[in-house]
Amino acid sequence: MRTTKGIAVSPGVSIAPAFIFTDDSAEIPQYHITVAEVEAELARFREASLLAKKEIETLRDRAKKEAGEEQAAIFDAHLMMLEDPDLLEQIEHSLNDNLFNVESAILSFETEMVDKLSSSADPLIQERVSDVHDVVRRILRHLLKKERISLSDIDTEIILVAKDLMPSDMVGMSRSKVRGIVTESGGRTSHAAILARAFEIPAVLGVGPDFVDQIKPGQPVYVDGEKGIVVVDPDDVFIQKERIARLARIQREKEDKELRDVPAQTKDGTRISLVANIEMPDEVANVIEYGAEGIGLFRSEFLFLGGHVPGEEEQCREYTRVVQAMQGKSVTIRTLDIGGDKVLPELGAVGEKNPLLGWRAIRFCLEKTELFKTQLRAILRASVHGKVKIMFPMISTIDELIRAQGLLAEAKWECKTHGHSIDPNIETGIMIEVPSAAICADVLSRSCDFFSIGTNDLSQYTLAVDRGNQKVAYLNEPYNTAVLRLIRMTIGYGEHAHIDVSLCGEMAADPASAVLLVGMGLRTLSMSASAIPAVKRALRSITIEEASAIAHQALSMHSSSQVSALLTSKLSL
Ligand code: PEP
Ligand code: MG
Repeated sequence: MRTTKGIAVSPGVSIAPAFIFTDDSAEIPQYHITVAEVEAELARFREASLLAKKEIETLRDRAKKEAGEEQAAIFDAHLMMLEDPDLLEQIEHSLNDNLFNVESAILSFETEMVDKLSSSADPLIQERVSDVHDVVRRILRHLLKKERISLSDIDTEIILVAKDLMPSDMVGMSRSKVRGIVTESGGRTSHAAILARAFEIPAVLGVGPDFVDQIKPGQPVYVDGEKGIVVVDPDDVFIQKERIARLARIQREKEDKELRDVPAQTKDGTRISLVANIEMPDEVANVIEYGAEGIGLFRSEFLFLGGHVPGEEEQCREYTRVVQAMQGKSVTIRTLDIGGDKVLPELGAVGEKNPLLGWRAIRFCLEKTELFKTQLRAILRASVHGKVKIMFPMISTIDELIRAQGLLAEAKWECKTHGHSIDPNIETGIMIEVPSAAICADVLSRSCDFFSIGTNDLSQYTLAVDRGNQKVAYLNEPYNTAVLRLIRMTIGYGEHAHIDVSLCGEMAADPASAVLLVGMGLRTLSMSASAIPAVKRALRSITIEEASAIAHQALSMHSSSQVSALLTSKLSL
């Protein structure tokens, strides 16, 4: 039995055999060849393409039978690409000109194609990038004789163990089979953590290097996502103790469910709106189950991370599904926040030296205007089915906001000319998650209807700490005083401008932080739906005066540990 400590990011416990997940794209060998070896590399390419072709033909036939012509057509497009004589010619040229192995030649082909397609103004052509990506990965797998590991193929209950998990890995995974998650890197606010909470999968991240190398596939692993403990090969005594602890957890879950219809308010009756963060439309059932009063953050980019770029109709369908399910309760849809750790090779958003400081979110959308307006039109069309708000992520200057609003105006006009009705009074807001936005929130408040504070990124950028890097996770303190000041500043500017201010970072999901935030003046908090009961319980245990006094004291403190001690002493949560 071996116990490892990590960061508890998603509550619950479970035990199951380990499934080791490694990213097959990370290990593509690239090496020099001689002129005499060119022919042999070409032969490898021909053989791999042939195998890929057979595989695609089988997939096409299966798709035709099970999903219909439209799905099968995707594979026809892949076959066309594979059979295009230009592909062979380009690979041959590349081998002769550069004298690098065929895997390198294929990667250069991929980059070139992605650049070409993604710079097109036509969204239909842009969407073909995912086909290139798919075909290239398939050929590479045959060249490298690798089995495709897909998290969607998992068919027995497992604990997913990985060095790191990209949001795109997790979107398509077989959720009912993944009983727990353990990764070497990642922190509380990394997207892997956010998704684990959304999917209600117990998870411990940031267990440190070498964990994956020391574990064998199939070894039993116990994950405690509340205490941040991972036990490999737990012994009988441990399992016995765990069975007893399980009963207490079941009781608490029952009490949480009972809180569902109780109002979220302080002891003296100040109403607080607790709304939910979602990533995928099918989380709506959970949102309703936990009694959320709306959706404060729909991370729409997750619709794009499942392997293809959804067009206007598909997006409109998905947004409408969420809006209708919420039956008039407000749904805030955040526009595409791609980039950073949410890479989308299909759109060319890869390969930056500093992705977190790079071409991300609104910066990406303001350049990919057709893609952006397609999404805006889809949201606008969904807005007639309920109460929808639009939110722009990562705004760092007023110019960005004005440009985003300009494109929204164009999208509204386009909807009108195509005969689509929309909510003409749809509210637009921005995430306050870059320090420059918090500092200049007074200026920004004049060009939008609401702010939502994103403390995950606000902390990351204020403290210069990569939120997914376990080595510096200690700096990402829950009550950093600089971040608290920026939050207070944003609330103040929002109050002054009479616009709504809410908070949708992970901080809102922590009961003690929620008390602090309400004391600082917030009246709307957005969090993973499963966090709502505990936050509600905490808010119902204090008066608004008590919360304000705590916040007042916290804001005068010098360090996160002092604030933490204050909250522990004042609250018995
Ligand atoms: C945030 O940054 O706090 C936020 C809510 O957005 P995301 O976690 O998706 O970056
Ligand atoms: Mg963010």
